[in-house]
Amino acid sequence: MFSLSDIRELLRSHDGVLTEELRQNPSQLGLGQLPKHRQPDALTTMVCGYCSTGCSLVIHMKDGQAISLSPDGRYPVNRGMACPKGWEALRVLDSPERAVVPLRRNDDGGWSEVSWEYAILTFASRMKAIQEKHGKGSVAFLGTGQIPTEELAFLGALAKFGMGFQHGDGNTRQCMASAVVAYKQSFGFDAPPYTYQDLEESDTIVLVGSNLCIAHPILWERITRNPHQPRIIVIDPRRTETAQVATHHIAPMPKTDLTLFYGVAHLLIAWGAWDQKFVDEHTNEFEKFREHVAPYTPDDVARQCGLAVGEVEQLARLIADGQRVSFWWTMGVNQSHQGVLTAQALINLALMTGNIGRPGTGANSITGQCNAMGSRIFSNTASLLGGRDFTNPEHRKKVADVLDIAEDRIPHSSGYAYDQIIEAIERGEIKGLWIIATNSAHSWVQQTRLKKLLPQLDFLVVQDMYATSETAQLADLVLPAAGWGEKEGTFINSERRIGRVRRVSKAPGQALADFYIFRLIAEAWGLGHEFAAWKDPAAVFNIMSRLSQGQPCDFSRIASHDELGPLGIQWPVHDGVNATERRLFADGQFFHKDGRARFMFASPVLPRERPSREFPYILLTGRGTSAQWHTETRTRQSPILKRLYRDEPMIEMCPEDAKREGLEAEDYVQVTSAYGQARFLCVITNKVKPGQVFIPMHKDGVNRLIQSEFDPQSRQPSYKMSVVQLKKATV
Ligand code: SF4
Repeated sequence: MFSLSDIRELLRSHDGVLTEELRQNPSQLGLGQLPKHRQPDALTTMVCGYCSTGCSLVIHMKDGQAISLSPDGRYPVNRGMACPKGWEALRVLDSPERAVVPLRRNDDGGWSEVSWEYAILTFASRMKAIQEKHGKGSVAFLGTGQIPTEELAFLGALAKFGMGFQHGDGNTRQCMASAVVAYKQSFGFDAPPYTYQDLEESDTIVLVGSNLCIAHPILWERITRNPHQPRIIVIDPRRTETAQVATHHIAPMPKTDLTLFYGVAHLLIAWGAWDQKFVDEHTNEFEKFREHVAPYTPDDVARQCGLAVGEVEQLARLIADGQRVSFWWTMGVNQSHQGVLTAQALINLALMTGNIGRPGTGANSITGQCNAMGSRIFSNTASLLGGRDFTNPEHRKKVADVLDIAEDRIPHSSGYAYDQIIEAIERGEIKGLWIIATNSAHSWVQQTRLKKLLPQLDFLVVQDMYATSETAQLADLVLPAAGWGEKEGTFINSERRIGRVRRVSKAPGQALADFYIFRLIAEAWGLGHEFAAWKDPAAVFNIMSRLSQGQPCDFSRIASHDELGPLGIQWPVHDGVNATERRLFADGQFFHKDGRARFMFASPVLPRERPSREFPYILLTGRGTSAQWHTETRTRQSPILKRLYRDEPMIEMCPEDAKREGLEAEDYVQVTSAYGQARFLCVITNKVKPGQVFIPMHKDGVNRLIQSEFDPQSRQPSYKMSVVQLKKATV
């Protein structure tokens, strides 16, 4: 335990690598001791810090510092493979763009370097002053799915139970909130049911809104190892890299997929190709669902989806004929104005055909970020710690008991979602914002609007690895954070596997692990004593383990990091810690009180924005290449990754549309929506249909164009459906 007065001493001795003195007495600063296997010139393993696949990487050490890496051949996730981002994971740590010292905004708009002591005291005094003047709800935080679960849990508990923040959300709202709500309602808990081995066991793989080849390339590699010659059906408006190598590609009009899946259910019922025994024994509401899909005839569905009747029938026939059918989806489903219902339509198909709980089956959401699953269960934002519910008094009591805090410290609601926090900034209700490890000024919808709003805050704090992100550039205070590879903890991947991340590299300058920044803030806020038990990531893992007890995500048998072992562990851990693969619902028991899953459904609605004379094109967005990550804050630091894609912002359009607009390949195109405009290089391709264009999500301009429609249940933005006009731009 340390206090603010220790910070100077900490920084004096903190050259990024633990000094010998601290090695001897690590508990004094809560930094932990380097484990023996990471002593000089050894190997260690850790989970990659980019995507939710959760590959394990072998880190090669020299003199106590990581010098290179290679994919882990033993790990049940990646089995010796890694994508370009993983191979380059260490290199991006070493960058002149790293934040290395706390920075304060001056009156003239420039920056001054300040001490940690000054930065932390400024953080606490200004946030408290805002709360005192405008109420507790006048400050909020926006977190991430990129930091270890221990840090997420600490942030969420500290902010909401200690500092009195009523509102806090994460960038995970942007990628998988719809899947969370869908699973909770259908299964009774936010529980992706699969293990990656299912990709190799299926005979029929349905990929919806998922460009697996480049978004989750190692999962695609797993499909290529499938010995059953699976039918691979890609459902996507665009002929993506994955669609090009699939056995079948079905390209409905954007945002008509919900109608399509109701039409498939209609046909399966009409053909008697559903599993009555499973439905009767393990589900509720099927009869209402049957009535609901009765009007979704193939003719109507095909017309609404822009498909041939034969395509709708073929999709249903492939599902009906499969013995082990698995349904997988990512952002094409989640980032929709009806993402929850669309995810539930896929869950319904899995339930009605009994394709769940068996090898090679499942209704399987693949998450985005490396620790999106950790965020879902432990960030204390949409769900209370341990995947619980803020509104449930029993849940609040359980958390209060485990944490040994007064029950009334726990809010009775989850507070505002991301978009509601932005709205509250706009109407002046929220005046202080703390952004941790996310680049909102680039990634949020209607980017121009947000870039205007953030400077209007009384106080904007950005805590990040890089001082150069679009968001950090707008901050009043920048707190320099250590990154992946520079700190300890765990991630939880898409298949619910908890794996280790480790400190194998020294953080540059004065950058500190987010965990210790939170610790300093706790001290400065006067909460050091109350959070004394949260002294380091190992201690917090133990707290999380106890918080999981009795929940569907129970891993309370695993009390320490070391017990996770070299292969990680999938929750729940009921059946012995040595199982390397765990699939949910093998016993047909779901997490609702009656043990049954529920069919969830409602009538589709049209997206708010549709093509018009003024904005005739539908703008689709998605990942550009496997070498790019989100807003490129990290991946652009690697010269090797940058050689794997063309750096100029690009737009794809089909030859007919290019001709109509008088455009040729390599022309510049001014793309305009009702919310902004940006310039892109024209790429003419048959990957997109007439009337649709595609822009990769990574460059700054794209989110200027995106409208702000949200799924009403999950509050997830609909990134895949905006309308734009095109015009040839002068160079
Ligand atoms: Fe890392 Fe994902 Fe690439 Fe695996 S697939 S190496 S987890 S970025």
